[in-house]
Amino acid sequence: MNNCKPCGGAIPLCMVDEFDLPADIIDRKVTKMKMISPSNREVDVGKTLSETEYIGMCRREVLDDYLRTRAKKHGATVLNGLFMRMEQATADGPYTVHFNSYKDGGKVGKPETLEVDAVIGADGANSRVAKEIDAGEYDYAIAFQERIRIPEDKMDYYKDLAEMYVGDDVSPDFYGWVFPKYDHVAVGTGTVINKTGIKQYQQATRDRSKVKTEGGKIIRVEAHPIPEHPRPRRCKGRVALVGDAAGYVTKCSGEGIYFAAKSGRMAAEAIVEGSVKGTRMVGERNLRTYLDKFDRKYWATYKVLDILQKVFYRSNPAREAFVEMCESDYVQKMTFDSYLYKTVVPGNPLDDVRLLVQTVGSLLRGNALRQGANSLPEAASSGRRCLSAAAKAADDPSLGCPVEYIDLRGTSIDQPAVCKYTGNKYYSDDWQAH
Ligand SMILES: Cc1cc2nc3c(=O)[nH]c(=O)nc-3n(C[C@H](O)[C@H](O)[C@H](O)COP(=O)(O)OP(=O)(O)OC[C@H]3O[C@@H](n4cnc5c(N)ncnc54)[C@H](O)[C@@H]3O)c2cc1C
Repeated sequence: MNNCKPCGGAIPLCMVDEFDLPADIIDRKVTKMKMISPSNREVDVGKTLSETEYIGMCRREVLDDYLRTRAKKHGATVLNGLFMRMEQATADGPYTVHFNSYKDGGKVGKPETLEVDAVIGADGANSRVAKEIDAGEYDYAIAFQERIRIPEDKMDYYKDLAEMYVGDDVSPDFYGWVFPKYDHVAVGTGTVINKTGIKQYQQATRDRSKVKTEGGKIIRVEAHPIPEHPRPRRCKGRVALVGDAAGYVTKCSGEGIYFAAKSGRMAAEAIVEGSVKGTRMVGERNLRTYLDKFDRKYWATYKVLDILQKVFYRSNPAREAFVEMCESDYVQKMTFDSYLYKTVVPGNPLDDVRLLVQTVGSLLRGNALRQGANSLPEAASSGRRCLSAAAKAADDPSLGCPVEYIDLRGTSIDQPAVCKYTGNKYYSDDWQAH
């Protein structure tokens, strides 16, 4: 319980209101977001936010402690312990929970038991409660994060700004981030498809943000799994899973704090309602009402983000297209409204059609650029004697800039120039000679 969950700590505005969080829980109010493409094209997102709208950045040790203390004040009994297993002597009887208690301090803990009527498993991605009910496995991403204390002038840059980096270098299927915290920044990335490469992706995220974070001191390194989808089973008898234990993290954004809090509350409400405020025993049917409500409320949100990840995180050209799209005020408004208020916002039909055309255009452009660039292998990553490279993108000018001329002066194999459309890298060994 005294641990600190490895986490970026970004929370939506609706969580602050809905869970009545005090202002001092929030380290930073982010009102500007930079989306940074594989070629380092930057798009500022946040123009559509009103004066009162922001993304909350918090430290999990602060947020979790606040929520626990408040629950205790409202009558919950808080036990510091490690859940080990549970059993049920008869189908209608109580569950006997076995846990190692840390109430007397020490690292090992003292075995204790507790009898309970129902169990809500909120024990995260490596949930033991999930194992106890044979909930089944899920795919997971591994996320890595370093908390870096940077010089004050650099911190000032991040005062109300977060950055999201996309590209094969920072992650083959996710994004890298720099999130501002109280007196430091959290720099991290994640991946599902190449977990063994996570340190290399982290290095690339640090490199991409280097100018803005160099001179910093790493004060904490953390890593943890992130579920990719719900477990096959989330409820059995009077046991239900919530949060990461159930598998409620959205694709694309990797967001799970709000859904963990919300599912926990919904499961508790189902028990209160089903037990008629504790006057009768609940059953599986009562707990399942929480699952039905949760799925009905958020199915579309999960689906949309799943599709977005599949379409836009699959290649550098697609990521370029994604960042390009984020320039649109309409896209920004829709994205922020969906994130901040957790509803898939119905849009303006005319703008939706425009967005569809724009999306298809961006993707076509990205794909055409990729094919064109691949047809010039002799220029890619070469050290031959030249001062400029030309990345041929597409023969159809309506698809966008067909050729990009790249100045190779100042480049080297370690610091190549990157084509802003294709993400391909170019350098010249002998530019100084000219
Ligand atoms: C690096 C990283 C960055 C992330 N960034 C963000 C972000 O910016 N915004 C966002 O919304 N989400 C983010 N997430 C996802 C988010 O952290 C989770 O979705 C969220 O914390 C889930 O909450 P939870 O309470 O279900 O699980 P957890 O936060 O994992 O909490 C589980 C708790 O159970 C305890 N526990 C585990 N096993 C036992 C046991 N056997 N007995 C007793 N206690 C146990 C753990 O110690 C922990 O306190 C990130 C995740 C990672 C890994």
